[in-house]
Amino acid sequence: ESREVAAEIAGVLDRFEAVCAREEAELGRIDAIAGDGDHGQGMAYGSRGAAEAAHAALADGAGARTVLVRAGEAWSESAGGTSGALWGAALIAAGGVFADDGGRSPRTTVEALDAGIDAVQRLGGARVGDKTMIDAAVPFRAALAEAFTGENTAAAILAAATTAREAADATAGITAALGRARVLGDKSLGAPDPGAISFSILMTELGDHLR
Ligand code: ADP
Ligand code: MG
Ligand code: MG
Repeated sequence: ESREVAAEIAGVLDRFEAVCAREEAELGRIDAIAGDGDHGQGMAYGSRGAAEAAHAALADGAGARTVLVRAGEAWSESAGGTSGALWGAALIAAGGVFADDGGRSPRTTVEALDAGIDAVQRLGGARVGDKTMIDAAVPFRAALAEAFTGENTAAAILAAATTAREAADATAGITAALGRARVLGDKSLGAPDPGAISFSILMTELGDHLR
């Protein structure tokens, strides 16, 4: 049964790769406003590397845990950059929730998302209001906990992804007085955080794929 879960995970990563390729230019445009313009490229390279590694692990007979860990390692290596390291760590931490020889309950998916977000917070140290992907991930997590009834994984993730998108859009209003945006200066005011936007996009893909 873990093999089925592993194949499903590889399918999710294929979706991530496809949407990151579609959104590459737009994410780069947003990152160029206050950052260095490479977020689209980082997400495209990272998700492609992760999907390739997942399929290679699957072909080797790996279970769900190993597929996610290999995918996370590949995401970091392929993307470079801050978000690449954070997404890589998130996938590896999510993999820790799965077994190589067990199945997936609806709750496992929610626990894996929580573990991934925990890893981003631990490694990156950002707080809500710092204008990072955490500004989308924390409200996402709270909305998911509220929407999840024990069975409705896909619907709960989709609802939480809508909350994440609204929170990501709202980062446009974060001023230079706060957190990471202070370092960026007023340049970022009026533009949302690219990593918060890409987070919400990927969670929408995840919910849609599990439906
Ligand atoms: P880089 O900043 O190295 O060029 P990217 O452009 O790919 O990497 O990613 C930038 C995104 O990474 C930001 O928009 C933000 O969402 C996220 N990010 C940066 N630092 C942190 C952090 N400490 N914690 C969480 N997310 C962060
Ligand atoms: Mg960048
Ligand atoms: Mg960069």
